[in-house]
Amino acid sequence: MSWQKIVLASNNKGKLAEFQALFDGANLGIDIIPQGELGIDDAVEDGLSFIENAIIKARHASKMSGLPAISDDSGLCVPVLGNLPGIYSARFAGEHGNDAANNAKLLSKLESYRTDEPVVGKFICVLAMVRHADDPLPIVVQGEWLGEILNSPVGEQGFGYDPLFWLPELGKSSAELDKSEKNAISHRGQALARLIDALKTA
Ligand code: IMP
Repeated sequence: MSWQKIVLASNNKGKLAEFQALFDGANLGIDIIPQGELGIDDAVEDGLSFIENAIIKARHASKMSGLPAISDDSGLCVPVLGNLPGIYSARFAGEHGNDAANNAKLLSKLESYRTDEPVVGKFICVLAMVRHADDPLPIVVQGEWLGEILNSPVGEQGFGYDPLFWLPELGKSSAELDKSEKNAISHRGQALARLIDALKTA
């Protein structure tokens, strides 16, 4: 593979660090540039699925930069709620990125579904990569992290729905994992590992 620079369709510093660390470790000779550094605005995410939105964002970043681009779209799906909050995870309660309000809305929506059985939830991360804006063959990988939705928040680390995401096999919520523990098993960690594998053979 001969790509040197790849634009990341996100300006999230945490994601950039995670991407760069994994790419450096894989020795693919790839530099990741956040789209903000090139003055590229966010795309309009009007797809109905993680996959559609990930591809929309990657195409937009590639079109604006003239470079290959990678994007990531993630969220929490709760099957008993028809997989909501899903692609609306960041703005479930209205305001983008209001984690406390999003968590409160999730708990209130789940009230009528609670039984003695745990409520299943899964974090999803889709990564899409295009070699150019019109690439008919995007590389798309997905990571899925299964857990249970708690009744009330536990733990102080992480972000978003982490304090409500219980991992029975660890006896901890994902907000009780430090960054490296979480990256090793999370939806995003899984998807990134798959993308690296796909690029090695691309
Ligand atoms: P984004 O892909 O970073 O925009 O994430 C979308 C939304 O999904 C976030 O704002 C969170 O609400 C939720 N989310 C995605 N990944 C995670 C995670 O690892 N922990 C907690 N919440 C997450």
